Amino acid sequence: MQFYVCGAVNYINNTAYYDFSSTDENALATAAGEGTGVINIYYANTVTSGGTAVGGYAYLPGPTAPERMLIKNSQCNDDKTVPHEMGHYFGLYHTFRNSDNATVTERELVTRGVGANCTTKGDLICDTPSDPFNRTDCGTMLSGCNYIGTCTDANGATFAPQVGNVMGYNFGCGNLFTAGQYSVMATSWETTGMKRDYTSTGRPSATGCSSPTLVANPVLSAATVCNSAGLTINWTDIAGEIGYFIERSSDGGTTFNSIGSVLANVTTFTDATAASSTSYQYRVKPINSNANFSNTISVTTCLIYCTPTYSQPCYINTGATMAINSFSTTAATTNISNLNSGCSTNAYGDFTSITGVVAAGATINYSLDFDIGGCFPQTHAIWIDFNNNGTFEGISVGAGSEMVAQSITTGCTVNGSLSISAGTAAGTYRMRVRSRGGAVTAVTSPCGVFTFGETED
Ligand SMILES: [Zn+2]
Repeated sequence: MQFYVCGAVNYINNTAYYDFSSTDENALATAAGEGTGVINIYYANTVTSGGTAVGGYAYLPGPTAPERMLIKNSQCNDDKTVPHEMGHYFGLYHTFRNSDNATVTERELVTRGVGANCTTKGDLICDTPSDPFNRTDCGTMLSGCNYIGTCTDANGATFAPQVGNVMGYNFGCGNLFTAGQYSVMATSWETTGMKRDYTSTGRPSATGCSSPTLVANPVLSAATVCNSAGLTINWTDIAGEIGYFIERSSDGGTTFNSIGSVLANVTTFTDATAASSTSYQYRVKPINSNANFSNTISVTTCLIYCTPTYSQPCYINTGATMAINSFSTTAATTNISNLNSGCSTNAYGDFTSITGVVAAGATINYSLDFDIGGCFPQTHAIWIDFNNNGTFEGISVGAGSEMVAQSITTGCTVNGSLSISAGTAAGTYRMRVRSRGGAVTAVTSPCGVFTFGETED
């Protein structure tokens, strides 16, 4: 399933809808000249539904249901609101539906075994765990994104909700749909009278949806650039596009999946999620077209390393920055000295132009300095991609692991040592040093999302 933007954005210049109340919905739809056969998404400064302030709302499908959703501006680009309302639009209930119903038998049980009621209660889907979100007797529900509630269901069973589910209410904890939810959405799309098969019929002839004006197809350049950050493709711009979808196939071009999008007039895209040394096919098409595909190019990727993510990169508090300022080694044949590098953009620094030399079987010492205007405690780990496959494998130090150091020692300066296995073949290998701030927690992931810290290759 892929969505196309229908015509240009329609700005409704009217103060009456700036802070939107659902009581104004029909007037708004009229003012917009709202079309049918499309999903009408309205953005407003604030949104209230039935007098309650909300991040957005939408309608479950049905023959007379408005094909309309309202979204609060400030939540238009978070991890959940638009997908959540799309979920409702395609027939999904909240995972916590009726979780606090006064009639306890209306609540969804935790069990999926004998006595389970997941097909008739809650969100009616069994692969979404029962979610007690609305209960007031569970104590604190979340620690970070971990569920820690203490309440139980009618059978005395402890809840284990899927905190990252799109149809729950936990923000910043992921945006997952389950297979069961995808199935419901597909079924709703096919059976509730709202089916819009753009693929076979072309763009809908709805009001407010301008006719296709694109006459040209973008052309992908055969020249691609592959480096450790990803594979970059380029194409020629065409007139009239409002952006491009980038699609990738890993089965020789039989099936393509969208892997990203760019804005109008952008003609380059770096695929940072491509695997190393893998054959792919790529194509692009304008977002406001279902037919203007580019040619397809086939590419075999080089070594691509995942880009680590921090939710608060280069965090600064009272003048101090939480990052790695310096990394250096001693006792190697040729040492590394990367001093006072500060915090790199997005807390990821590619310093692979700096190399060191070390003999197989040797143990070397290293030093990390965390003082950038002050010291934040940070844990760290170090990997070396000994098999040169583009992945840092291992979550702890040990035989066969590519993690060569791991420490929860914190301080302004932290010293350690790492050993290079005697059996290591001569070659050039990438090393990754990753720190993690906040709670004193071991670094086990070379790229996963941390809140604070920095990574240097
Ligand atoms: Zn909702």
